[in-house]
Amino acid sequence: MDRNEIQLMKKGELHVHLNGLVSTDVIRNLLVDEKSEIPIGFDLESDLTISHPADSLSSYLKPWQVLRLIPKSKNCLKIIVESAFLNLKSQNIAFVEIRNSILYLALLNNISVDEALFWVVSEVEDASERHKIDAGLILTVSRGDYAPEHLRALLGAYTKLGSPSTIVGLDLAGNEDIPSPTETGSLFLHAKDKHGLKVTIHAGETGEIENIISAVNEFGADRIGHGTAASKSVEVMELLRDRDICVEVCPISNRLTNAVNERESHPVIDFIDHEVPFVICSDNPSIHSSSLTEDYIEFFRETHALQYLHEMYSNQKKYSFIKDWNGN
Ligand SMILES: [Zn+2]
Repeated sequence: MDRNEIQLMKKGELHVHLNGLVSTDVIRNLLVDEKSEIPIGFDLESDLTISHPADSLSSYLKPWQVLRLIPKSKNCLKIIVESAFLNLKSQNIAFVEIRNSILYLALLNNISVDEALFWVVSEVEDASERHKIDAGLILTVSRGDYAPEHLRALLGAYTKLGSPSTIVGLDLAGNEDIPSPTETGSLFLHAKDKHGLKVTIHAGETGEIENIISAVNEFGADRIGHGTAASKSVEVMELLRDRDICVEVCPISNRLTNAVNERESHPVIDFIDHEVPFVICSDNPSIHSSSLTEDYIEFFRETHALQYLHEMYSNQKKYSFIKDWNGN
């Protein structure tokens, strides 16, 4: 199978961050147009992308030093969302679940969380309709002391907006070594129960297998983001398989963050062996100067499991949080 054939395959994308999906030339132009103050030592030509495995998480996160400076208006957000959808279209992606942290947008624009959420929902819905790509939005909460407070603010805004069907799930992300207050898990469970939202948790990306177990047992995770550490334990892989919890595998991201170092084979090989459900996703494709097609190719290079690529689209649909399909 060559690159062109893989590019032409119909795809779904279940793990991608909005800012990591925007073309870097669009980001550069916006930063210049908005006269954003670029941090000292940040080179806009070379520091917006990560092309080699990072030596630390903070060096992988360098592009976010400037990504968090945009968008500074609703119109700028429109440009960002448009670029993201053009990139999805170029990969023949028929449906997408986009993640975004709404709180930083509210802070950056000095607007309420309700308004920030309205901005993102309306721009995603508009682009989804224009580009004929089904789209759901996943609200990201950062790990740490403020996780419960942030989740409450997001759910309050979600309710005030009339529980838009575009919002399909919740996500927990951020440094896995930082503990979150114990009530965080039960708040996620309650949100599932009360609002019917699905849950995905970034867990086991940096080796913390306990975070996968707590994502399942305390947060009610329907899917796990990355989950690379699961391969260290047959019990955990069996837990994921028996509960039919899908792992969002991001092969290129895992190499660039060093979640899987160059001496190791990719844990997805163990997931195949133990029948753990998984889908291939791209995480932050523009930051990786890459695309979902490249992640498929990387997966094939690591596994030679062609049959999984053929079954990928139906698995992406099976594990998607989107319920209201427009026919893709
Ligand atoms: Zn991610």
